[in-house]
Order: sequence, then C-alpha cells, then structure tokens
Amino acid sequence: MSKRIKKIGVLTSGGDSPGMNAAIRSVVRACAYYNVDCMGIYRGYQGMIEGDFKEMGPRSVHNIVNKGGTILKSARSKEFMTAEGRAKAYENLKEAGIEALVVIGGDGSFTGAEVFNKEYKIPVIGIPGTIDNDIFGTSHTLGYDTALNTVVEVIDKIRDTASSHNRLFFVEVMGRDAGHIALNAGIGAGAEEILIPEEDLGLERLLESLRRSKLSGKSSSIVVVAEGDKIGKNVFELKDYVEQNMPEYDVRVSVLGHMQRGGSPSCFDRVLASRLGVKAVESLLEGKSNFMVGLLNDKVALTPLEQAIKGHTEIDLELVRVSDIMTI
Ligand code: ATP
Repeated sequence: MSKRIKKIGVLTSGGDSPGMNAAIRSVVRACAYYNVDCMGIYRGYQGMIEGDFKEMGPRSVHNIVNKGGTILKSARSKEFMTAEGRAKAYENLKEAGIEALVVIGGDGSFTGAEVFNKEYKIPVIGIPGTIDNDIFGTSHTLGYDTALNTVVEVIDKIRDTASSHNRLFFVEVMGRDAGHIALNAGIGAGAEEILIPEEDLGLERLLESLRRSKLSGKSSSIVVVAEGDKIGKNVFELKDYVEQNMPEYDVRVSVLGHMQRGGSPSCFDRVLASRLGVKAVESLLEGKSNFMVGLLNDKVALTPLEQAIKGHTEIDLELVRVSDIMTI
C-alpha cells in the first residue's frame, strides 16, 4: 500500500476563470477534513520554481467562494518548460514537504503536470479551469457557466441599442478553437446568426441569412462570432464585407474580450468547484494520480490526464439544429 500523503499543494495556472477560488477553497477544506496539510502555491508553476508557498487552513479561504479570479494568482511559466526549471520546482516542493499536487488550469497546465509527474513521480490531479469549455472528459469546465451568463447579459444590453437604431451588431466572444460559448450564449441571447470555428458558414450564406432576416421584418440583428471563427479573418473584416454588400445596414462591432473571464462565479460554477475540489483530494488520498476530475452525466468522474489533454470536445449538433430553427 502506498504511504499516506501528508501535505498537498494547490495551484492555479494558465488563464484564470471564475470558480477557481471556489475550487481552491474546496481543496483546502477537503484537506482539513481529512487531516492533511495544504499549501497554496502562488503564480502557478512559476511560484513552484520560486518557492512562493503559503500554508492554508480552512479559515484562510473564507469569503472567496463568491470571488472571481484566483487568490493564488496565475501565471504562464516558460521556465517550467525547461528541465532546469522543473528541477528547481521539485527541490522547493521537497523542502516544503509537499507530496502531491492539485493543478487547477487548462490543457497546457495539465501537460506541465504530466511532464513533472513523469520526471519526479509527484502524484497530480487536475481540475479543469477555463471559460472555453474545451477540455475532454467534462461536460463543464470551471468558469464556463459564469462566462455564458456574462455574455448573455451583455448581449441583452447590446440588443437594446441595436433595436433602437436598426443596427446590425457583430459580437465577438471568446473561443479560439471551440464555439461552445458562442453557440450557447447565442441561443440564450436570441442571436440571429452564430458563427463558430467548427462550422464554416461561408460569407455568402451569412449574407443570405441576413437578407432573409431583413425580409422577414427584422430591423436589427445580433450575430455572435466566436473569436476562432474562420469565415472572416476577423470580426472587423466581416463588418466591412457586410457593409459593402448590404449598405442598408448600419453595422457595429463589439469585442467582449476579457470581461468574459471576470466576475463572481455562478451558483453552478461554485457547486461544481466544490465537488471537483473534494474529489481531487479524495483521489490523491486513494493513491490515484494523473487524472482530471470532471463532470460526466452530472456525476463527478475521473479521466486520465493524457486523454483530457489530447481528446477533443465536440460541438453539440443538436444545439446547432435548435439554433437554426430559432433563427428562422
Ligand atoms: P488556458 O486554457 O487558459 O490557455 P492553460 O493551462 O492551457 O490555460 P498554458 O499557458 O497553455 O495554459 O499552460 C500553462 C503553463 O503550463 C505554461 O505556462 C507552462 O508553465 C506549463 N506547461 C504547458 N505545457 C508544458 C510542457 N509541455 N512542459 C512543461 N510545462 C508546460
């Protein structure tokens, strides 16, 4: 039987997302519940290399369940990509008595965790924290639900001004490789058209669809565009193209940007973070390593980190169909 872990380190890495604090809180409190020491590691892997650690107990995480961002800060660390950097990180962990890690982040952070585990045999469990929802092995990543609600709220506001001026708005939302935010928020906000990287609508079909909308009596329109959409080089090019071909429209662009990553996490993200944090600690204490904890069919489930990193999430085709029907 493997020896019982006495101290777990927790870190947030890569892009921040709402719910990371709730996950930190959950890991810290689950450690306290199981009588395991917990150490917060600041600034992701960079803090590991610099030994930027702090003991954490159940009271050190009060009043953070509702806060966006991450109290542990996040970072991208080039140094951790080098063997020397990881050797320094290992020495610091050893000195601090940290025997296992919970890594809250995206697939890059999980890759770092895998590499580190291969070299130094430190058990690791990943918690998916990214608003893009593009990680295999979970129906929801931390922050995704909050980001959807933020986007819907903003598009509702844009619609007020769009309909007052008979304008066409292109609203760019996050999602370089995945259209989950665009598709779901687009349906939720009643967008006339949704452009996602997974589906190449083509410029002509976009124009056709806008003409149809106009003919059917719509005087304003919202088109939600995922930032990775491939039909225009970027959302401003789309605007130029539509303006040239449909001069009757007054076209505007709104790029939502980083506001989508901020804000107080939704109840869903807080509950998800709490469930995943507990499962991460329990998995380590059961001797498991190199897994990601996620949500599958509303149950907390483990997926090998390697699969979580390499696997691709698919867009929900049923949602695409529903969106087509809604935009008639
Ligand atoms: P996001 O989804 O927001 O991009 P992420 O976790 O994918 O989050 P990355 O910047 O890709 O973010 O990765 C975070 C950190 O993980 C990197 O800065 C680096 O320190 C570490 N990392 C990524 N890939 C590797 C690798 N191959 N070897 C070692 N460390 C890595």
